[in-house]
Amino acid sequence: TPPNPSSRRRTRSSSSPASPSLGTPTGAQPKLTVQCAGITKAGLPCSRQVKALSAFAFLAPDEPVERFCHQHARELLEPSGFYTRPRGQQAAAEWVSFAQWIPPYLSHPTQILLRTTMEAPASVSDSPGHIYAYELRAAGRLEPVALKVGRAGNVKNRLGEWGRQCGKEVVLRGLWPPREGTGTLLRGRLRMGDKARCSHRLERLIHLELSDISLYSTHLTPEFAAPFPQPSTPARNAAAAGRPPASPASPATAGKTKPVRRPLTPCGECGKLHREIFTFERARARGGPAVREWEDVVWPVIERWGRFV
Ligand SMILES: [Zn+2]
Ligand SMILES: [Zn+2]
Repeated sequence: TPPNPSSRRRTRSSSSPASPSLGTPTGAQPKLTVQCAGITKAGLPCSRQVKALSAFAFLAPDEPVERFCHQHARELLEPSGFYTRPRGQQAAAEWVSFAQWIPPYLSHPTQILLRTTMEAPASVSDSPGHIYAYELRAAGRLEPVALKVGRAGNVKNRLGEWGRQCGKEVVLRGLWPPREGTGTLLRGRLRMGDKARCSHRLERLIHLELSDISLYSTHLTPEFAAPFPQPSTPARNAAAAGRPPASPASPATAGKTKPVRRPLTPCGECGKLHREIFTFERARARGGPAVREWEDVVWPVIERWGRFV
């Protein structure tokens, strides 16, 4: 269950008549029209119907996600950051810059969902837990890397359920929060460290970003190789000087109508569409620059959102 900015919006998006048809079979791209989750200047729900799909909706069709019309999408992409809403009376609100957390190479619908998830106050139903990531080891060296990233209150219990899955060996790759020192990831020797607070929110942020990268194969594009976050971006300086922030995305990534989008395909072994398993096309298979799928793609995402939450 993901944290949701407001119960009002949630009701609207999940009561939409289009939602139930989302769990459509194999290969079919869900074509949806839902009501924009934006609020008009008059304070009313925006009545526009939108079809804009997020990568997340593609990989986790059952999860409710908000969609926005062009106008409201633009409004949501405009602010350069937000003030946190501290719980305690004495605590001070902190400024959070989006540019420090959301990579510019993500598609706009995903950037918007990350923004609204970041800004939403912690849900009361959220709970501490660990984020784990395991690989379903592929037989071939050119086969896409398949990594499952999930959340567990008790990873040791969960580990018992993992043996082989879909004919592949399950190998634990990482845990958040990480164990200090030489934390072994071997099953019989695993010791868990502290739990992350708000593990639902953390999982949601990680899933949003990974589904975008996986779907568009962004890790194989030149934009991905640029250092992120930028030490000091022009947008931030402009905002600091009181000028309006620059456009949140470069023209190269705006709109993101890339042809590399891969549909979710059923598992070759069990025929199911696997949720929360992210597959990453191998750089080698394309003859592209060397990208390490775990070290360069997945772990940095877990680590960055782990620090945020
Ligand atoms: Zn709208
Ligand atoms: Zn399977």
